[in-house]
Amino acid sequence: MTDLLTTARALDAADPLGSHLDAFAEMPGVTAYLDGNSLGRPLRDIGEKISDFVRGDWGTRLIRSWDEQWMDLPVALGDRIGAACLGAAAGQTVVADSTTVLLYKLLRSATAERKDRSEIVIERGNFPTDRFVAEGVAAESGMTVRWISADPVQGVQISDIADAVTARTALVVLSHVDYRSGALADMEGITAKVHEAGALMLWDLCHSVGVIPMRLDEWGVDLAVGCTYKYLNGGPGAPAFAYVRAAHHGVLRQPIQGWMGAADVFAMGPAYVPDATIRQFISGTPPVLGMLPMQGMLDRIEQATIEGVRAKSKTLTDLAVQAFDEVLAPLGVRLLSPRDAELRGGHITIGHPDFRAVTQRLWADGVIPDFRFPDGIRLGLSPLSTSHVETVTGVLAVRDALLQGPIQEPTG
Ligand SMILES: *Cc1c(COP(=O)(O)O)cnc(C)c1O
Repeated sequence: MTDLLTTARALDAADPLGSHLDAFAEMPGVTAYLDGNSLGRPLRDIGEKISDFVRGDWGTRLIRSWDEQWMDLPVALGDRIGAACLGAAAGQTVVADSTTVLLYKLLRSATAERKDRSEIVIERGNFPTDRFVAEGVAAESGMTVRWISADPVQGVQISDIADAVTARTALVVLSHVDYRSGALADMEGITAKVHEAGALMLWDLCHSVGVIPMRLDEWGVDLAVGCTYKYLNGGPGAPAFAYVRAAHHGVLRQPIQGWMGAADVFAMGPAYVPDATIRQFISGTPPVLGMLPMQGMLDRIEQATIEGVRAKSKTLTDLAVQAFDEVLAPLGVRLLSPRDAELRGGHITIGHPDFRAVTQRLWADGVIPDFRFPDGIRLGLSPLSTSHVETVTGVLAVRDALLQGPIQEPTG
């Protein structure tokens, strides 16, 4: 057996992005934070940035800040996300609302535009909110949901959608990286297949934005949404983003008609006239304060480049798989993620019947992965804030907690 910690120390010493690790706030009592894919850590300077904002832009510039910068912020910040992470030219990405609300807006827009068609295609294993919104929109739009099944480890393949996507399909909704297995879908190939049937394609990027390079413009993606509190470290409840391909502007019409999405926000006119740009997808006053923390993370991703972030992500997940093979597989733990780094995102999932109890022990001991029903532990490795030593420390802690045996579950 190789010495995993020695290997990890060598990888940390050679890590070109290692200098970012110190930029994150200390986490007293925590030796391994392996949940950056659920809630990214705060940058160290965020308290100061927020207090500068309170004193300056808000406290001193006061309402003048709306004209000076806040009105433009949803699209300006969207453009930065588009350029740094999405392969999206300016004017197609906007920051607003939660992922769930943006999913609703985009699904409704798409089904209204394809009202001659009758089905929304979605995968059974997709994240609950995506499925729930799809069911709600289908009911409102008089459409049906067509469910597809995919391998729980390898994720959705082109062959899984080939039969399901037909002349009846209005829209296909899939996740780029599966929130459970971490499987990475072939965005380019699947989008092309969906377009052959004349349907629209919506990608959920929650588990890939900030960690996987993508080329939404080049790959013909119609619509996308994504979280900013995962790999973009925007903080709990930070607003999400929506991408709407320029070709659909002025054609798609979102359902929550608000004054901020109107063509002339301050006309205060009698009727709603939708803006013909991405701004139409805003409804009400944007959450300016919530857009602050993610900006520091975007600075760092721009500096590291998304390709650099992806390279480290692969090294981290490869090391986690190596550690799994050496210390967890012999204890009967299953790998529930693809083995090939090219086919997975920034986290891996492992399974064992005792993992609910194991997770309780780990959290109490300052090792923080997350538990996914029924018996999975997700190890989320956020490349700019996670070290190789932290990764190995986490896997060794899982082994130690497992060796303590099952906790007696209370009955009745
Ligand atoms: C995290 C996540 C969401 C979260 O949606 P919210 O509206 O922010 O609660 C949605 N979809 C996927 C795939 C996610 O991973």
